Amino acid sequence: MVVILKDGADSKKVKNLTDWLENQKISVHKVIGEYQTILGLIGDTSKIDIDLIQGLDIVEKVKRISEPYKNANRKFHPDDTIIDVGGHKIGGGNFQYFAGPCSVESREQIISIAKDVKKAGANILRGGAFKPRTSPYAFQGMRAEGLELLLEAKKETGMPIVTEIMDASHLDLFENVDIIQVGARNMQNFELLKELGRIDKPIFLKRGLCATLQEFLMSAEYIMAEGNQKVILCERGIRTFETATRNTLDLSAVAMLHEMTHLPVVVDPSHASGIARLVKPMSFAAAACGADGLMIEVHNDPAKALCDGPQALRPEEFAEVTRGVNAIRETVNNL
Ligand code: PEP
Ligand code: MN
Repeated sequence: MVVILKDGADSKKVKNLTDWLENQKISVHKVIGEYQTILGLIGDTSKIDIDLIQGLDIVEKVKRISEPYKNANRKFHPDDTIIDVGGHKIGGGNFQYFAGPCSVESREQIISIAKDVKKAGANILRGGAFKPRTSPYAFQGMRAEGLELLLEAKKETGMPIVTEIMDASHLDLFENVDIIQVGARNMQNFELLKELGRIDKPIFLKRGLCATLQEFLMSAEYIMAEGNQKVILCERGIRTFETATRNTLDLSAVAMLHEMTHLPVVVDPSHASGIARLVKPMSFAAAACGADGLMIEVHNDPAKALCDGPQALRPEEFAEVTRGVNAIRETVNNL
């Protein structure tokens, strides 16, 4: 529930109202805006008499809000959340490239790609060690060994790493991982989300293949409700009737999510399109519509990649993307 106060409302009366609500186990978040002050009521407001509050002379309007997500809701947290990963900020106007192969395949592969993407402007290295594959017969990732190699690449290049977790029982292995990714297929693995809510590490949450934005934010809410507020959202394409591309990149989600939530929104044009030559134009479009970062798959030999080769860029193609995206961001920021 949201209580919009009248301009110049008597602060003593506001305090009385706040105390009264808090006595009923409602926590009150006061947001002082330039033109309006609002009280965000969090807790079970079902027993609060809305007419009673509406009748107070300090109150302009009372609204029961329908969104069930509170922590992720921009209404209660008007400022953008900025997440700092090893000195690299994401959100609130800070843009980051998360780049690397779909999967870690060998020491040489991950280290050479890490160096290449870093040179091209990426600050965060991605690479899957535990891979969610549609077929149980497909390469499942190097698992714990892959994590070790990622950590070596981190040491060698100084880049923080992001990699996917598939089971909470693996959490100990992720101790030195900087950002933990929850893949699209696990977006509604609620027990996993709750576990990740109890740790103090940024979580990179990818949108489920068929998830609405509200469902996506409810998954973020599962993490945040347990205490961990560091959630980065990732639009990675949704499943539609279209078959020409792997998925359909929902760019309106970027603009809409920025209205609905204060969390940073990153776009993954690689999984969204599934086609390497579409990654550049889709990256440009994502940057133009306000994404806070891009996650892009890069491989030194896409034809031989063990996973997602058709959508992987070569390092020099990735460098072209970062050059163009940087120019687009500068233009858009000056509009
Ligand atoms: C990935 O990033 O490697 C991945 C598997 O992505 P998604 O969960 O979006 O399919
Ligand atoms: Mn992939």
